[in-house]
Amino acid sequence: MYDKDNVFAKILRGEIPNDTVYEDGYALAFHDISAQAPVHVLVIPKGEYESMDDFSTNAPAEMLAGFFRAVGKIARDLGVAESGYRLIANHGADSHQEVAHFHVHIMGGRALGPMLTRRD
Ligand code: AMP
Repeated sequence: MYDKDNVFAKILRGEIPNDTVYEDGYALAFHDISAQAPVHVLVIPKGEYESMDDFSTNAPAEMLAGFFRAVGKIARDLGVAESGYRLIANHGADSHQEVAHFHVHIMGGRALGPMLTRRD
């Protein structure tokens, strides 16, 4: 069940402020409040999708295409398409997903190192 009180739902409804970098009919992008890299932007779909599993299963094809086209455009507009960037979409407990509204992190602006710190 989608929680309408999650922080990104409130941002979409304009109830709390955000530092917007891009918006269209499918997506809203804003700076992460706790940036982990020189470029750290969150992209969220304009719809009630809890996570990647929900979004990939239930979003209409037009939304899936519009959302991921927006992610690519935002990365280009942020100037990291040539230097490189990392996308992260945490889903569920093992990934440490904190906000229960599907979102993609765009991270870049420096060499990011290996994908994960190994902890077997
Ligand atoms: P995740 O662990 O993938 O769910 O990531 C949630 C992200 O949302 C974290 O990187 C937080 O710093 C970020 N975040 C939480 N609240 C806000 C907010 N009000 N504005 C911008 N970013 C936020």
